[in-house]
Amino acid sequence: MMYEIDETHDQNRRSWVASANRAGADFPIQNLPLGVFRLGGGRPRAGIAIGDMILDLPAALAAGLLEGDAALAVLAAADGRLNALLALGPGPRRALRRQAAALLDADGAAGRLAQAQASSLLHAAAECELLLPVEVRNYTDFYAGIHHARAAGALMMPDNPLPPNYKWVPIAYHGRASSVRVSGGEIRRPQGQRRPVGQAAAPAFGPCERLDLELELGMLMGAGNPLGEPVPIGAAHEQVAGYCLLNDWSARDVQFWEMVPLGPFLGKNFSTTISPWVVTPEALAPFRCPAMPRPDGDPAPLAYLHDAADQGRGGMDIGLAVWLSTEKMRVAGAAAQLIIHSNARHLYWTPAQMVAHHTSGGCNLVPGDLIGSGTISGPTRAELSSLLELTAGGTDPVALPNGERRTWLEDGDEITFTARCEREGFAGIGFGRCSGRIVAS
Ligand code: MN
Repeated sequence: MMYEIDETHDQNRRSWVASANRAGADFPIQNLPLGVFRLGGGRPRAGIAIGDMILDLPAALAAGLLEGDAALAVLAAADGRLNALLALGPGPRRALRRQAAALLDADGAAGRLAQAQASSLLHAAAECELLLPVEVRNYTDFYAGIHHARAAGALMMPDNPLPPNYKWVPIAYHGRASSVRVSGGEIRRPQGQRRPVGQAAAPAFGPCERLDLELELGMLMGAGNPLGEPVPIGAAHEQVAGYCLLNDWSARDVQFWEMVPLGPFLGKNFSTTISPWVVTPEALAPFRCPAMPRPDGDPAPLAYLHDAADQGRGGMDIGLAVWLSTEKMRVAGAAAQLIIHSNARHLYWTPAQMVAHHTSGGCNLVPGDLIGSGTISGPTRAELSSLLELTAGGTDPVALPNGERRTWLEDGDEITFTARCEREGFAGIGFGRCSGRIVAS
């Protein structure tokens, strides 16, 4: 029932918003991701992306175009963030999806009524400022990409790259919520204590020399659970209220000097970027897939992490891409270069397993908690989803078409993540952009 397909997924539906019907559009009428935007210096407002426009939800409510649970959902976001809306759970979120689809449909009475008021209901996305969709309450970052864990581990322990607990425990660290920022900002190169590359063993304090990206999915939590009451694996998927792209910017020199024995700290807490549009579990329903098959010899998940439905449909087939644009490329008018592509199918643990594990000791999740998947690398070189892996620890640079090379990120580099879901018989959907530009310390 969670991943059910209904009329909102019909690939033949078209919107009266023409840009939503273009081939390859990220936001066709079958997607309808939620976000928060601002016009000029105005108040933050909840909206839905449709083509290159934004449906203004408070305006639709004020015009009397939404009713029942959908109206309740929009009222819950009246404070200009989605926490309380996501906390309402799947019912109101689905009602809003169904009614918004009807309003934006090229056919039908609801669509005609909305189209007649288009000038007050729609804004060009390019003229709006997109804001963080939620007040991020807590941030936890998992390590569920097994190819990443293996490739990153091999740089430290070539003979035994995977930690002995990896196939038993969904590993994570508690990150920092205060420095989570929405796509489009500048990332200031952090200063930190690290051992400068190729120099003496004594550490020094200065600008990071090994600045990196991590290609991840972000998951935003819905209602959450009371302290001391774990979420059972069979109900865990209902806690995930939305998905976005997440860049876990990492200062590798700082990280590797500080992380033993308590894990990452300043190497990762200076900035995390997420994409502004929250893709709902409903929009993703056609693109669910089996959990990553465990190779022969791997242990079965312990009972608290095992659910037959989750194993069958808890994975996600989401194509992911990383684009690099250097200062030199932009000056020359060259397009950003695709440097990495991967797929969320390569996650060893499903979102439900991450939620069940996170709460298994009694920890409470709250609305607006952000959970990162961990770097989603795949088995081939082009799917190694951080520079740490892609350049083999900074020893094998990436060559760009203009002759530039990169081992780590340089000032002026802009990194953009994109993602797309495609399946025969369904309209493809995208996630929009998650980007950030490096600026000097
Ligand atoms: Mn990470």
